[in-house]
Amino acid sequence: MNNQNNKKNDNNNNNFFNDNPMLAFGIFALAMIIIFKSLVNDDGLNNIMGDQKIAKTEKVKYSDIKQYIKDDKVQSVKITSSTIEAIDKSGNIKFIAQNVPAFDEKLIPLMEERNITYEGRIGEGLMAELIGMLLPIFIFFGIWLFLAKKMSKGMGGILGAGRADKLINSEKPNVKFDDVQGVQEAKDEVVEIVDFLKFPERYIELGAKIPKGLLLVGPPGTGKTLLAKAVAGEASVPFFSVSGSSFIEMFVGVGASRVRDLFEQAKKDAPSIIFIDEIDAIGKSRASGGQMGGNDEREQTLNQLLAEMDGFGTDTPVIVLAATNRPETLDAALLRAGRFDRQVLVDKPDFDGRLAILKVHSKDVKLSENVDLEIVAKQTAGLAGADLANIINEAALLAGRLNKKVIEQSELLEAIERSFVGLEKKNRKVSEVEKRIVAYHESGHALMAELTKGATRVTKVSIIPRGLGALGYTLHLPDEEDRFLKQKHELMAEIDVFLGGRAAEEIFIGEISTGAGNDLDRATAILKDMITVYGMSDVAGLMVLSRRQSSFLGGGHISNDFSEKMAQDIDANIKATLTERYEFVKKTLKEYDGAIEKMAEVLLDVEVIEGSTVRSIIEEYEKEQGMESRLAHTKKEV
Ligand code: ADP
Ligand code: ZN
Repeated sequence: MNNQNNKKNDNNNNNFFNDNPMLAFGIFALAMIIIFKSLVNDDGLNNIMGDQKIAKTEKVKYSDIKQYIKDDKVQSVKITSSTIEAIDKSGNIKFIAQNVPAFDEKLIPLMEERNITYEGRIGEGLMAELIGMLLPIFIFFGIWLFLAKKMSKGMGGILGAGRADKLINSEKPNVKFDDVQGVQEAKDEVVEIVDFLKFPERYIELGAKIPKGLLLVGPPGTGKTLLAKAVAGEASVPFFSVSGSSFIEMFVGVGASRVRDLFEQAKKDAPSIIFIDEIDAIGKSRASGGQMGGNDEREQTLNQLLAEMDGFGTDTPVIVLAATNRPETLDAALLRAGRFDRQVLVDKPDFDGRLAILKVHSKDVKLSENVDLEIVAKQTAGLAGADLANIINEAALLAGRLNKKVIEQSELLEAIERSFVGLEKKNRKVSEVEKRIVAYHESGHALMAELTKGATRVTKVSIIPRGLGALGYTLHLPDEEDRFLKQKHELMAEIDVFLGGRAAEEIFIGEISTGAGNDLDRATAILKDMITVYGMSDVAGLMVLSRRQSSFLGGGHISNDFSEKMAQDIDANIKATLTERYEFVKKTLKEYDGAIEKMAEVLLDVEVIEGSTVRSIIEEYEKEQGMESRLAHTKKEV
């Protein structure tokens, strides 16, 4: 009977606890309290009584105990509902009678007559017994629940060490493209993936090759993860995600097996998306490994990743998205065709983008009607989407603290201030020396852009650090709406503009910094393309020597099929042209030194200047010097 009850309880409790973890914990806590209490009150006393000198415990019948009491052999008695314990006069022996029949009322007068101390209550005994019965169950489930939670949440424990199931996040996000704002170009790049994931058969039947891997490149918090989720959300396919950095602290071999499991799962659930955050943690260039001996674990993981990406064909509707804010550190093998051969820039949002992001995030909070999000967008230049989301939330917290019903402009402005203070602490502030270098560098670009025919005019010059490691930037917008073709003189103009930055550093700072590296890289790439792709030089004539594959971030070429001799000629030609252009650019900057000085001075003062300001500075200088105007863009103002 007892046993059966026990089992029934057991089962009930099992379901009950699974469904109500909070309640289970409550019961567990209660059980602990009861144990504690019973230790202090009841059993505690019992122990003191009993353990003093009792040498022997004897199981006897109830009738025997009654007889001992009658015979005055007993000094104390303890009664519960179902047992009676009696300790003999010597205090050496404890008699215990179980299965006591219904409580015997005659017993008490009997004990009183003989001056026997007695204690106990029937109700209490019953309760104690019940607790005694249930307590182990409570404790067991408490511990079990606790462990179960730990296992599922944490690192997978000992059981999960090799298996990846617990370490890979799998979800079906309901994020949509509308939730991602301010990164239109990136969204445009990924729409075709959504269609492919929705209707893979169409593409596969046609034999169309959809990129397997796409690298999302951009500063932290700009919405790379969000965009990847939105792709999965729009296509309503499963989203498997891992973080590159979590591979590094693993045991040797675990990372690789995790990559294998990741792809296995994704292929099983195809069409699907794999998202690898912080891919630079595993995909660091092997050449730039750093420490001696390198990191075996990372290398194994990277190799496994490469193998997996090569291992499935374009007919498997699995797309691998990866995110990084340091694309320049990635191993070239990762960027090769059939791997992450497409790169999508997810940059910090401009004014319109910021406004749109603020609108998205203010949907979930209560804004006062007279809040002006445009002002917020204006004051948050340089912030990423995550910062903006944070500002809205911070404002909501502030309003809550002030016990307001809605968020007002004042909370938003306060939140902006706080976020900038936080950023200043986080980001190393740009030093004055660096600012000066950047101001002259950007002025050099701007001047060349304004004086060179075929270059695009300047829209804005800024020395506020923005985007990927750029300390400043000169924004050019083409005069016409869309341009698909470029003429030779326009390409040459681009080279002059690129060289302007470095030339300005050399002339006005007197020393060259590393800041121009990217400019030179791009200038070189343009020249190389002119020779090997577009047939614009005497070196190769009309012969096409390289097939273009991607032009983004300086892009690579699939095939370079030319002789060693030709390679030398190309190199020599590029070098000669660059030297010639560089001399010309330096000469121009020297002629306009007053204009550059002025531009740099204004930039250092206000940090951002419009294209129109650049032009009027140049014009003024030309007048001052009595020069004929060489401004190349005299059409409409931007
Ligand atoms: P990243 O992966 O680039 O570091 P996340 O995608 O993790 O950035 O962004 C973190 C959060 O910031 C997002 O969940 C979202 O709430 C907000 N956020 C970031 N960028 C955007 C954006 N472009 N549009 C809307 N919200 C954004
Ligand atoms: Zn530059």
